[in-house]
Formats: sequence, structure tokens, C-alpha cells
Amino acid sequence: MTNVPELFGSLVFGDAAMRERLPKDTYKALRKTIQDGKPLDLEVANVVANAMKDWAIEKGVTHFTHWFQPMTGITAEKHDSFISPTPGGGVIMEFSGKELIKGEPDASSFPSGGLRATFEARGYTAWDPTSYAFIKDGVLCIPTAFCSYGGEALDKKTPLLRSMEELSRQAMRILRLFGNTTAKRVVTTVGPEQEYFLIDQDVYEKRRDLIYTGRTLFGAKPPKGQELEDHYFGAIKPRVVKYMEELDRELWKLGVLAKTKHNEVAPAQHELAPVFTTTNVATDHNQLTMEIMKKVASHHHMVCLLHEKPFDGVNGSGKHNNWSISTDDGKNLLEPGASPYENAQFLLFLCAVIKAVDEHQDLLRISVASAGNDHRLGANEAPPAIISMFLGDELSEILEAIADGSAYVGKEKTEMEIGVKVLPHFFRDNTDRNRTSPFAFTGNKFEFRSVGSTFSIAGPNVVLNTIVADELQQFADELEASEYFPETVAKIIRRTVCEHKRILFNGNNYAPEWVAEAEKRGLLNLRTTPDALPYFVRQENIDLFTRHGVFSKTEMLSRYEILMENYAKILHIEAMTMLDMAKKDILPAALKSAADLAGAILEKEKAGLTAKTERALGAKISALADSLSAHIEALEAAAEAEEACAEAPEAAAFARDKILPAMADLRADADALEMLVPKKDWPFPTYGDLLFSVQ
Ligand code: ADP
Ligand code: MG
Repeated sequence: MTNVPELFGSLVFGDAAMRERLPKDTYKALRKTIQDGKPLDLEVANVVANAMKDWAIEKGVTHFTHWFQPMTGITAEKHDSFISPTPGGGVIMEFSGKELIKGEPDASSFPSGGLRATFEARGYTAWDPTSYAFIKDGVLCIPTAFCSYGGEALDKKTPLLRSMEELSRQAMRILRLFGNTTAKRVVTTVGPEQEYFLIDQDVYEKRRDLIYTGRTLFGAKPPKGQELEDHYFGAIKPRVVKYMEELDRELWKLGVLAKTKHNEVAPAQHELAPVFTTTNVATDHNQLTMEIMKKVASHHHMVCLLHEKPFDGVNGSGKHNNWSISTDDGKNLLEPGASPYENAQFLLFLCAVIKAVDEHQDLLRISVASAGNDHRLGANEAPPAIISMFLGDELSEILEAIADGSAYVGKEKTEMEIGVKVLPHFFRDNTDRNRTSPFAFTGNKFEFRSVGSTFSIAGPNVVLNTIVADELQQFADELEASEYFPETVAKIIRRTVCEHKRILFNGNNYAPEWVAEAEKRGLLNLRTTPDALPYFVRQENIDLFTRHGVFSKTEMLSRYEILMENYAKILHIEAMTMLDMAKKDILPAALKSAADLAGAILEKEKAGLTAKTERALGAKISALADSLSAHIEALEAAAEAEEACAEAPEAAAFARDKILPAMADLRADADALEMLVPKKDWPFPTYGDLLFSVQ
């Protein structure tokens, strides 16, 4: 039996450890920094660093690292030991405030999109005291932001922190107008639900596509897939139970609030959901969760696949970003509340989100754009590339009534005039659910479902925080200038609903009719990553992010460059992997099979027997082998031509238009061959072998 409360956070230098180990005034100063974002002076940092070091050494730690989140999407670390030489030739264990606050990793090999000239290669990391230090693999990890010497952000955390600050600033203006004098700050909160696949390590190691690209590039459909939907919430297999138990324990030690675990729709697919926390911490914790998921899998001779689409024709993996806004004293601002007055404030915040999502569909789409997620968005299983919003019936009716100034008949069948002053009192109805909506209101939070399973949630939340902050700023400007507060609130709500209701859609987002309907409404449908990314650097978006100090123009251009480059690189690696597998394994297997059949035909005919079946099969395999050969050449030619593209956007578009179709052609031949070549001669584990490998 595990004593969970004792285990929880045992590897975190959190509030309890700080309170216990820091002198009172140091503790107070640090809390101030954490709570109010006050800068930390070096003296305080020295004391904190020393206490942190002693705490870590007691747990067997000898090294520390600044732990940061460069644009690669994964975390980075560089370990330094605590040792410091003494005059007598020995060492003492030291960790200074300076080392805690600032690091200087050689960062020249991290993607910077041309931001960091090589002579300024170092960059620096700066402690983020709002996310606690922790011990991982025997190393003290200090969560940090990562910047260039010019001060430009080279990571995902810096803009996230900036966007949270900005949202807080604007939301506070609204709260003060509503008479709230107690809240000091507003934070956004996130609970990211993480989907993943588990397969056996033996089958994984036989698939170079999984090893190099994280997804299968070949594979015929298995006889049994997810048709029966017998896996969803089904009994968890014993080996997976053991895995989940260890995963929970490891995450709890790190203070990650792992809460819910269950099987997902596809065979071998599972989900883990934590209890929500502030966005910054949730982001760090989600990065840790993904890392620990992979590590723990290896203890169980399994591999955890986090790719958005590891298997064609089988559900992909997403990450539902449950997002809300709350005050520092814990009041959820997206909670409809019990009285009309609270409702007015709720409706105003709701309207800020509605307006933000409608006006910035492009940014939300971009925040979930990647080569991997393109396979998922718009396929018949995940929210489409079209961004829309689901509010449920009751809330939709209320908003409709507000928009046309009619009476709203509430649950209790009492009519309410939605006049200037009176806003309806209604009941939160979270019973209706729409699993197809990319952005759904679920009672007191929004669930952004389009996020891909490998994503850092920093990007989507930077966008969410910034676009909502921008709307709140506009509302606050108008309200502060107005003498008639309640009337102006009502006016803003009505105007927003009238002008932005096209973004609201409660129907089935997977239906083909929705594509046509969305087009009629003028909603964006940016199907692929190269379609979406150019919107990021449009003037209005540069203005938006610079206005709020979330990104500088240079930072945006560099990010655009990195994302475009990344798309083309991923497709290039996939193409190379396919060629490698097709040339070295699949074609030889097909040729061998055809030759075996030719031999069998000769033998049979020598014996005076007809070999009708062998001939027919041999002809099919030979024809497919010819086609496969031709498609190998075509893909090779396309990959070569892509290398001639000078600019990243050009290469990305080329990859989408030429490489992807050539990959699909090659795959079609290989998958058809898989169904004809004897299993013993097929070089790779099949979909059946992979999906049902963990029993
Ligand atoms: P489901 O969506 O599967 O029905 P829940 O609604 O209980 O499950 O929660 C899903 C996720 O949303 C959990 O991670 C939960 O912590 C998170 N969540 C709940 N409330 C909030 C909130 N106010 N802000 C952010 N996330 C939240
Ligand atoms: Mg959910």
C-alpha cells in the first residue's frame, strides 16, 4: 500500500519544503515573488538555493539542471554537479543564488528560426519561481524560461507567462468594474487530458517507421479494429494496470495531480487526466507527464506512442485542453453563478471568449497545426480544421433571446424580459455534451479538443490567453468610459452575440454538411499546416501579439519559420523512412514471394498439375511489385526535388502537394502486398500484431 499523501510531491521543493526549510523572511519574500511576480533579489536567491541544495542532497542528488522548453516541443536539460573545489584539494557541495536564477546553456543547436546569430549562441535560462523545482532521475530540475541575449524568447514558457500576465491585467479591470475589491490577480487554469497508445516493445523494435517517425507509414487494416467499440472504458488489461499504477506513483511524487485513467476508443489506446491547475504549472506538468509515460512504459517492456496518428484508420490521439479563468482566491469566472448579477459578469466573460474565438479562428487553428495533427483534424474522428464553438442548448437559447431582445423562457418556465438592466437567472446545464465540437463549453470551462497529443499546451494557451485578454481590454475600455455600467454591459453582450453568433454551432461537426454550412457562414477552413501558418504573420496578428507584449515581431517571424521548417522536415523524414523500408524490406519480400510462386508453378506443372491459383496470385504480386517499384522512384524524385526548395514555406507546400501524395501511392501498393504475401515472409509486424500486442 502506498501512502499517497506522503508520496505526493515528495520529489518537489514545494510550499511545504520551503516553509520548513527557509528562514521566515526568505520564505515570505519568495512567496511574494511567486504570488505577485515581484523580482527576487540575489540575497534571497542565495538562501533559497542553499536550502534547495540541502534538501536535494538529502535525497541523494548530486547534480542540478535548468529545465526548459525550447521550440523543439520537448524539454531540455544540461546537468551540472554541485561540486566546488576547496583549497585542500577536496570538494564541497555548492549551489548559489546566481546558479539558481540564471543559466547559460550552449543553445546554438536549438531551433531559433534565425533569431540567434551564432556569435550570440549561448542564450540564457531564467528561473520561473511560479513552477516548483523537482527531482527527476536523481537530478534537481529548476523550471526556467529560455531567452536569447537580446531578450527574445527562444522557448514556449516565456510567451505563456507573458500572456497570463496580460490576461490577468485586463480581467482585473473588468472585475473591479463589477465591484470586486478582493481579487489580486486572475489566472487561467488548465486540465489537459492526455491520450496515448501502448504497444509491446518487441513489435515496436521491428518497425523502423515507429522508431524514426512515431507513426506507422505502412500497414493494412487489421481484421478487427475499433468497430465494436469494445475498448472504450473497457476493463484495463493487467499489464496496463501495472503500468498505470507505476505511472500514477511517479507522477504523484512529482506533484502532478494525475486523477483519471481509462481505456480510449481504439485498441491499445488510453487516457490520463490530471486535476486542473494554473496554466503555467499545468504546462510543465504535462511535459513531465509525457516524459514519464514513455519512461515508465520501458519498465514494462512496452512503448508509449504519443503521436497524433500512429495508425491509419484507427482513432488518433488528442489532448483536450480544458481551460478556464479564475481569481487568485479561487472563483471560477466561467461559472454561471446563482444570481443575475453574477450572470452578467459571467455573460460578459463568456462574450469575450465568443468574440475571441470568432475573430481569431486562424490563431486557434495555427496553435494546433503540425504535420502529425493534420492526419487527425478533419478526419472522421477528431474536431475538424474548422473552428466553431459549442455552448449547449440552454446557454444558446439565452444568448439568442438576448440577441433578438425577446423573452427567455427558463427552466422554471418563468418568462424573463431581457431588458437593459435585467439579465436572466439561469441554471448551469452541463448534461448535454457534444464530442465533435473543437471548442465546447462544459459547464464552467471550455474544452479545446483540437490540440494534438504530442503538443506542448503552451502554444494553444498563449493564443487563448492573448485573444481573450484583447477582448477583455476592449470591453474594459468601453465600460470604463461609460456612465451607465449595467446598460453598457447589456449592450456589449447583445452586440457581441449579434455580431459573432456565426461561430456558435451545436450540431455534428463531423458531418459533411457542416463544411458547406461553415463556408456559408464565412468561417475559415484551413485544412493543412502550410495553409494555416501564413496567417500567423499577418499584420493584424503581429499587431495583436505585440500590443499585448506576448511576442515581438521578430519572435513571431522566427516561430513561423521554425514551424514551417518543421513541417517540411517531418515529411522529409517520413519519406526517407518509407523509402528505406520499401526498398530494403517490402520490395524484396514481394519479389521473393513472386519467385517462390514461380518455383511452385514449375514444380506443379512438371507433375502434370495446373497451377491456376499460383499463377493468378503470382501475377497480382508481380504487378504490385512493379507498381511499388515505380512509386519508390516517384517518391525518391519528389524528395530530391524538395531539397531544391530554398524557403521554408515553399518546401512545406511542396511536401504537402508532392511528397504526401507520393507517400500515399507507395503505401497503397505495400498495404495491398501485405494482404498477399505469406505472413512468415512479411518483414514487419502487422496492425493486428501491433494493436493487440499488449495482453
Ligand atoms: P470529462 O471532460 O471527461 O467529463 P471533467 O469535466 O471532469 O471530465 O474534467 C476534465 C478535465 O477538466 C480535468 O482535467 C479537470 O481537472 C479539468 N477541469 C475541471 N474544471 C476546470 C477548470 N475550472 N479549469 C480548467 N480545467 C478544469
Ligand atoms: Mg473531456
